[in-house]
Amino acid sequence: MPMKNTKDIVAEASFSCSICNKFAGSIQLKGSKSSVQCTCKNFAGEMIVSFRDKIIIKKYSTALDSKDLNTLFSTDFETVPFYCPKCNACYCGDHYVTMPLFDPEESMYYDSLKGTCPQGHTRMLQD
Ligand SMILES: [Zn+2]
Ligand SMILES: [Zn+2]
Repeated sequence: MPMKNTKDIVAEASFSCSICNKFAGSIQLKGSKSSVQCTCKNFAGEMIVSFRDKIIIKKYSTALDSKDLNTLFSTDFETVPFYCPKCNACYCGDHYVTMPLFDPEESMYYDSLKGTCPQGHTRMLQD
């Protein structure tokens, strides 16, 4: 299978911190209507998730085009760790405090990441 290139970008957007205006995160969707790779860059690192459901892809790419973070969050919260749904705002790595959690049942594997926004709202970033 040939590698997809930048011509296949379906939608992309970047977001800045609502306090200091620094980079908070970016999301790029590449692929087709029926299969996309979603590359998410933010203070938690870089993550790639795949969507293979046309309805989800349509919903997600439309939300990304209009920077509708609430819909991105409800579709896949792990793709927008910089977003606080209670504030409806984005924060950079300096303003969002993250805390890795380890599941004692799952031995030494890194388990999930929790974050607290500057207003004190805590949410799960990755699970
Ligand atoms: Zn908040
Ligand atoms: Zn900031």
